Amino acid sequence: MDSFDPKGITVRSGHFIGGEYVAEHAHEGSRRIDVSRPSDGVVYASVPLADAALVDRAVENAWQAFRTSGWATMAPRERARILRRFADLIAADVATLAPLEALGSTRPVRDAAAWDVPFTAEGIRFYAEFADKVGGDVAATDHDHLGMTIAEPYGVIGAIAPWNFPLVMASWKIAPALAAGNAVVLKPSEMTPFSILRLAELAIQAGVPAGILNIVQGDGQVTGDALVRHPRISKVTFTGSTRTGASIMAACAQSGTKPVTLELGGKSPQIVFADAPRLDDVARRIAGAISGNAGQVCVAGSRLLVERPLVDALADRIQAAFKDLRPGATWAAGTTLSPIISEPQAARIDAIIGRSVAAGATLRYGGHRAVVAGHDGATRGVSTRGAFYMPTILTDVTAQSEAVREEVFGPVLTLQAFDSEDEALALAQHPDYGLAAGVHTADLGRALRLVRGLEAGTVWVNRYGRTSDFMIPTGGYKRSGIGKDLGRQAYEANLRFKSVLIDIRP
Ligand code: NAD
Repeated sequence: MDSFDPKGITVRSGHFIGGEYVAEHAHEGSRRIDVSRPSDGVVYASVPLADAALVDRAVENAWQAFRTSGWATMAPRERARILRRFADLIAADVATLAPLEALGSTRPVRDAAAWDVPFTAEGIRFYAEFADKVGGDVAATDHDHLGMTIAEPYGVIGAIAPWNFPLVMASWKIAPALAAGNAVVLKPSEMTPFSILRLAELAIQAGVPAGILNIVQGDGQVTGDALVRHPRISKVTFTGSTRTGASIMAACAQSGTKPVTLELGGKSPQIVFADAPRLDDVARRIAGAISGNAGQVCVAGSRLLVERPLVDALADRIQAAFKDLRPGATWAAGTTLSPIISEPQAARIDAIIGRSVAAGATLRYGGHRAVVAGHDGATRGVSTRGAFYMPTILTDVTAQSEAVREEVFGPVLTLQAFDSEDEALALAQHPDYGLAAGVHTADLGRALRLVRGLEAGTVWVNRYGRTSDFMIPTGGYKRSGIGKDLGRQAYEANLRFKSVLIDIRP
């Protein structure tokens, strides 16, 4: 699917609790927020924000469903069958889901149809397979005893998702939690509240019992906070910024010492040595890792470290790849550079670049907004409608520069040269973040030394990105997070393990 007419899409808003939509008028007087399309800034819906009372209703519904619907107690094989059907329904719904995802987010519809929607379905299918295959253990004990661990679901999991890949990020929370037998109350980002509602409808169609998957709409301060602190929530799983993650962790500590999984921000380095094989491919990957979704990716490769003799050859090739990008509305055919999520976020990128240049950085490429032809054919100055940013390369920066230290969450690449492996490693380590890193070299020993030395949750060698291998978990070191999404680890993180020791002497 290449394009669609945004006027042809109607969204269902509201919350989804106990298997049905909660009509907006049921909460008159509640606060609302306008939701706009990142592509052109047009407000296309207004969303009611769940207050603490509505969050309580959603969590109580989930708790009742967890205890009485049979989801947690049914044969795991049956739960797996329902989840596989859920995945099939998602994959078959691409013609509805992809435009819905693209309309309100930064995801071009072509990518949403080719990647986000199928990948969401695949994630659910992947975790369905764990339901009847991963459980507890029998422990090694002496002959007088039988020891075992029993894997049990937590109960109700509170999940909070960001806006950058609304369906995929939410599915990484939902899929392992449901497969393990939990109920879920999920709060999507207030900026991208709609596509997930369609997923909740499909869950019901697939046979997931009403109340097992609930969606509450709202901001972080009221809705998110009420969800995280609710006494019936047994575990919280969050993807978003490091600052929000820290406050959620504090709220979890204060409201019952709840365990947390936190997938947070990053400032990931890409280290390129002069012997890196296939330089054109390396350049293309580096360009893609900072321009994909306009850099609004947690693992964006935002700090380029290049062995000095290679700097110009590599930077020229990256710039050539940037030149081919076509900014445009998420619904327009041919769009290859996404909009920035909001005008304030684009203004923040402007400000960081402005301060960096004032502090001595050099703009090697970009550094300004992009003007695009709107979907109606008019050429728009993006300062008025829609926010698009040209991929940018900043040189003459140091480890102390704001653009090197702070997560920009936009298509901004800093470039630093190095002269030795030790210097590359030292520059690569970030004082706070440790989400991902890339190493490009033909020297296997060097690659493995760096794999060992880098303080990062994921290290890619001679490639960058790719989370489509579901068995490889993703998650950060240091202030980039706690725990993992994907992999066996995410499944086990949605279970708690009860230890049993039985005296079996006659
Ligand atoms: P954000 O932290 O602003 O918001 C994330 C979610 O948290 C939203 O749903 C928001 O409403 C909610 N929230 C905000 N304050 C809250 C509070 N006090 N209590 C409860 N909930 C609260 O992040 P964002 O701008 O939506 O997303 C971008 C960030 O997410 C970037 O930092 C990015 O690196 C990170 N991210 C990380 C990963 C990963 O896997 N590590 C993946 C995607 C995005």
